[in-house]
Amino acid sequence: MDQRTKPEEELANELEIGQNTRQALMDKVAAFANQYLEALPKAKAYDGKEVNQDAFTIGEQPKTIEEILTIFKEQVTESGIRASSGKHFGYIPGGGIYASSLGDYLAAITNEYAGIGYASPGAVAMENEVLHWLKKLFSFPETSVGNLTSGGSIANLIALTAARDKYGVKNEKIPNSVIYLTPQTHHCIQKSLRIIGLEDVIIRYIPVDERYKMDTEALERQIQADQSEGLFPYLVIGSAGTTDVGAIDPLDEIGQISQRHGLWFHVDGAYGGFFIMTSKKDLFRGLEKADSLVIDPHKSLFLPYGIGAVLVKDAEAVLQSNLYMANYMQDALSDELAKDPANVSPELTKHFRALRIWLPLQLHGIAPFIANLEEKLLLTTYFRDQLIGAGFRVGPKPDLSVSYFWYPYQGNQNTFNRRLLHYIHEDGRAFFSSTILEDKFVIRMAILSFRTKKETIGQAMEMILTCLEKTKEEFGA
Ligand SMILES: *Cc1c(COP(=O)(O)O)cnc(C)c1O
Repeated sequence: MDQRTKPEEELANELEIGQNTRQALMDKVAAFANQYLEALPKAKAYDGKEVNQDAFTIGEQPKTIEEILTIFKEQVTESGIRASSGKHFGYIPGGGIYASSLGDYLAAITNEYAGIGYASPGAVAMENEVLHWLKKLFSFPETSVGNLTSGGSIANLIALTAARDKYGVKNEKIPNSVIYLTPQTHHCIQKSLRIIGLEDVIIRYIPVDERYKMDTEALERQIQADQSEGLFPYLVIGSAGTTDVGAIDPLDEIGQISQRHGLWFHVDGAYGGFFIMTSKKDLFRGLEKADSLVIDPHKSLFLPYGIGAVLVKDAEAVLQSNLYMANYMQDALSDELAKDPANVSPELTKHFRALRIWLPLQLHGIAPFIANLEEKLLLTTYFRDQLIGAGFRVGPKPDLSVSYFWYPYQGNQNTFNRRLLHYIHEDGRAFFSSTILEDKFVIRMAILSFRTKKETIGQAMEMILTCLEKTKEEFGA
């Protein structure tokens, strides 16, 4: 090389790190990870402290790995919700199993191109094996197509787009087309509908019963009424585990109604899906009738954030929305289009997600995952009993591992419970979120982290009681 390019070359070479330095960096990161995990059981699950934006400044001068890890520790891991904690009971936790991090590491090192089989037949074969496993688990036919997405939202988006294209819901057809769901359906569905140009479809909110499950007689009546008015019902969305209360809709009945009227039946199992592997299997009866299904391995399979999955029976419908043949892609042509993840997803280049799920399943086998789910079901009952024993009221017996509670304060009950949650957040030893059910403010408990154990619940209970005392004192109760 020309002498003049020498300085550039040397600087450029800094990105290719030598073996000894690699090892030294890895040792420091691994030591950090071990310290983090060892300290986790005693760490707070929530801290409201503010982060210092300036600490993240990207300047000209490189920093040492020690400096970088310090910023990461202080500014990232010590504020907000500690999602890796077993004392995270808010929203839908999962924990994030260690083995997945090894998959992500290897995916990044090898940088396999997981979008197209031609580029990395192995990465794509691995993804297709994960999808095959999911198809078997949920009794979907082998001819279905699927995709590993970033999460449940994009997975739902892919399914809803396929339903739209299958039924040709576009242009003047949109305002006459009808979708059926319940008030408990996850809000990412409405968001998806807006993104895919369907904000003007008619959405019918079917009422739920006292356990927040879709009233299927009301569904049947509404579909008939809409049909006789000349509208175009085409899609029913059922939940296999709602986010608020973990309810599973009567999937079998919804499936039958959908089939009878020729509607697309979509099931959102982002939270609850993998409980099909447990003693609760019967609640999922009828799920195999669904035309499409969403599940989130970063929830009920305890993986770190960044992996959802969708299965769709009608391959044509999915390809119609996502297949695009550009000239620069012609070498990728093949008869088996749906085998290429890029043809089933809005993403072209994507993270090699299969490795973060395939590696842990191979390393641990399936049994420990099922045992964790069963354990979470038992812990849900245990936690509810503890709360009842302490004078709290709890919601109806849940289908899965999400429930809720409130303190029956004689007076402004909502204000009291809001204040109680305020003290819980201020304390932070365990984290809870809330919801409103029939105008009642309630505190949610979602037990899904693989790190949540019987002792963890004891610790959370202790914190709740301290906070209850504080609230009572404040209210003079
Ligand atoms: C979490 C959740 C979603 C959204 O999934 P993300 O992975 O957060 O994008 C959709 N539906 C249900 C039922 C959920 O619990």
